Amino acid sequence: MLTKRLSMPADILANLTALRQFFDTGITKAYAYRKQQILAFKNAVIAHEQEIYDALYADLKKSKEECWVTENGFFLAELNDTLSNLKKWMETENVSTNLLNLPSSSRVMREPLGVVLIIGPWNYPLQLLFTPLLGAIAAGNCAVIKPSEFAPATASVMQKIIESVFPKEYILFVPGDGVTVIPAMMHHFTFDHVFYTGSTAVGKIIYKMAAERLVPVTLELGGKSPCVVESDANIAIAAKRIVMTKFSNAGQMCVAPDYVLVHSSQKEKLVEAMKMRIREYFGANPEQSDNYGKIINEKQFDRVVSYLSQGNILYGSRYNKQSLFIEPTLIDGISIDMSIMKEEIFGPILPIVSFETMEEALAIIAYNPNPLAFYIFTANTDTEKQWLAAVPSGGACVNNASWHLTNPELPFGGRGFSGSGAYHGRYSFETFSHRKAVMKTPTWFDPALKYPPLKGKLRIFKMIIR
Ligand code: NAD
Repeated sequence: MLTKRLSMPADILANLTALRQFFDTGITKAYAYRKQQILAFKNAVIAHEQEIYDALYADLKKSKEECWVTENGFFLAELNDTLSNLKKWMETENVSTNLLNLPSSSRVMREPLGVVLIIGPWNYPLQLLFTPLLGAIAAGNCAVIKPSEFAPATASVMQKIIESVFPKEYILFVPGDGVTVIPAMMHHFTFDHVFYTGSTAVGKIIYKMAAERLVPVTLELGGKSPCVVESDANIAIAAKRIVMTKFSNAGQMCVAPDYVLVHSSQKEKLVEAMKMRIREYFGANPEQSDNYGKIINEKQFDRVVSYLSQGNILYGSRYNKQSLFIEPTLIDGISIDMSIMKEEIFGPILPIVSFETMEEALAIIAYNPNPLAFYIFTANTDTEKQWLAAVPSGGACVNNASWHLTNPELPFGGRGFSGSGAYHGRYSFETFSHRKAVMKTPTWFDPALKYPPLKGKLRIFKMIIR
């Protein structure tokens, strides 16, 4: 079995070697080349707009509007931001030089890493593969991209787009089953970086394989992102914003509020407001709603449905295996030892847990530390600061949920079990660049002080180096 997983068809190895040779020509490093590729990428994504919508509908029942906000439109906004700023990002950065090294000058140069591997998940299959690829191209790399096998319609359109724009020695699209394809590549070829988005469990496997060849990684993982609603929060707004993001893509979003911690004084009001919003956004029968997605496959469907037997249903809970539909559902009566509070839900079920004190809520959050995101709804700036300081997380929103990831000025990434490294906007460029430190020292000044014999120079060294 292991041998089968690790064996790699000769043509893939030849393709990987061709990528390395292409990178070594230096062609990908020029600003003009990078810009030209990004523009071609943009035009191809625009030209395939309808096919992208059809594919995402087939895989996840996403509406065109949702696709634009979270997939192709999101990606094009990142791309336009990159096009506007790339020249500036590529500039050599002059930095000051310390007294010890004067009159040397110092600068930081951004170099491409080389040949990178980008692995995507199925929940936002286009955006989560193409956005890191954009960063890799912007930084002057060659890339291998591996889509999830569980969103096959989108994978097929993405393959068409990539192969219509890029030569395969520059950007290589490798479809297939991750369990076989990825270990085979990583055991036979030394990538210069691996950028992985997906579950924490598979993230650990990727990390171990990368460590074998000391390959650096970015891990964009999952987790349980808590959403706290304080006693002074605007409940009407909190309900709207939590319902909107939690049930977007049928809850299959890495930064969806995983569970709500609401101050006990506001629980009833919040639950009623959320019920009203669910009905308003998705209708009495969300299965028929254009605004509501489906679960990706039967395996995920069975996993999510299993949570419905825990706690008390406050709203929802209908499902249909044939159409992979699970209704937006609110649950209470949850305890911390139930699997719904131990595992990432990644589906349209929202546990509502009430708390009396901040300590009590923090103790619940501490069971799943370092979430990918943390959300706090409060009207008080001091309360906001207290919560943000108390909960270490990848990112956070105040009086909002999930939208932080749509601002390319903000780094997007996790910490600890939710991942390491970050991207979006300039941070994508930085992730796929090496920062080379350069010092230039003139020859006209060369004091004897720096050279042996050193005896008797301690006092002056202490004056210069401190
Ligand atoms: P997954 O880990 O099952 O798969 C992701 C990728 O890994 C796929 O391309 C797959 O082919 C590959 N893969 C699967 N098993 C492998 C193995 N044994 N060896 C090598 N590669 C393998 O994840 P998923 O189910 O596609 O995505 C859902 C998870 O991803 C959730 O936990 C979610 O929170 C997380 N996620 C995180 C982010 C983020 O930005 N942090 C975004 C989306 C999803």
